[in-house]
Amino acid sequence: MSDTTRVYSYSAILMGSPILLKLFVHDEALASRVFRLIKQYEDLLTVNRAQSQVMDINHAAGQRAVKVSSPVYALIKCAKAASELPQSAFNLAIGPLVKRWRIGFKGDSVPPADEITHLLTLTRHEQVILNDDDESVFLAQPGMEIDLGAIAKGYIADRVRDFLRQEGVAQGLINLGGNVQTLGMPEGGWSIGLKKPFSTAGAMIGTLDVENKSVVTSGVYERFFEQDGQLYHHILDPRTGYPLNNELNSVTIVSANSIDGDIWTTLMYGMGVEKGCAALRARPDIEAIFVTKKKEVVLSSAHLYRFTLLDNEYRLTDSTV
Ligand code: FAD
Ligand code: MG
Repeated sequence: MSDTTRVYSYSAILMGSPILLKLFVHDEALASRVFRLIKQYEDLLTVNRAQSQVMDINHAAGQRAVKVSSPVYALIKCAKAASELPQSAFNLAIGPLVKRWRIGFKGDSVPPADEITHLLTLTRHEQVILNDDDESVFLAQPGMEIDLGAIAKGYIADRVRDFLRQEGVAQGLINLGGNVQTLGMPEGGWSIGLKKPFSTAGAMIGTLDVENKSVVTSGVYERFFEQDGQLYHHILDPRTGYPLNNELNSVTIVSANSIDGDIWTTLMYGMGVEKGCAALRARPDIEAIFVTKKKEVVLSSAHLYRFTLLDNEYRLTDSTV
């Protein structure tokens, strides 16, 4: 095998997620720099430790505005804009509910209904007050918390892509725990697996062939717990405070930028297949693949990638035909 076709894989655990980098060069030093870059963003954005720039904002809730660095401010601004879209299921102020449910972390449990009602009053995104002049963020009520878990991995995947481009890398792939960003088009293409929900690791419904695209998947099977025969997963409905309950097992978004993929998986979760496909008609740059509990695979359209169905338990439908 020549050096141009050989793929080298590098892995790490960061942001509580398995991270995979693929390059066509054997360059441990470059891989280390990529992982360091991801770690730097994790340190700025995490809410899973006592200290980060986002935690500084959260600790000062109801007290004072906190100045943050320009990238953190820009990401929060983008997350707030996504929260303000009509009928958006995305809410950057969802933190108090995420912290209480603890889905995907030790100590997860179903909160009492009155507690959820109370916590909902602390998740109003219009109470995240931004000041462009000094790039500061103020949470208007004590107890409010920003959580960027639904957008930060997308943002970071794009930064890794930009970094690799700057370093002269023409072809590469970064996978941040289900959040994939690709550079270029190797011979034979980038083939990205679409995970089979609630199955063994590596089981795939199908594959997507992409070029210079991001492929982001959010699934109810990623982080969940079961109580009294009921499944509780990590994508919460900001209107009810409970996990979003609809026909979907996963949503995959194909787009140029991974930040859009991350935002739109959450938006699509909130809308479901029909409304989601309708909303995407206005966005030809963004495409969705819905996997339903009834084992249907619904493509919002099929232009940015080629999809191959591999599992015959699933039925493929194209919403445009
Ligand atoms: P997405 O569907 O994109 O987002 C779901 C996540 O967004 C939820 O986990 C929650 O955090 C938040 N959320 C839920 N509902 C909504 C909503 N309606 N609107 C907006 N946001 C919502 N995991 C660990 O186990 N340990 C760690 O130490 C850890 N550190 C992390 C640090 C960083 C900087 C980031 C970005 C993630 C970290 N994670 C960690 C993972 C994190 O807790 C989430 O599970 C992960 O980001 C979910 O990604 P996703 O693509 O599966 O889900
Ligand atoms: Mg997301």
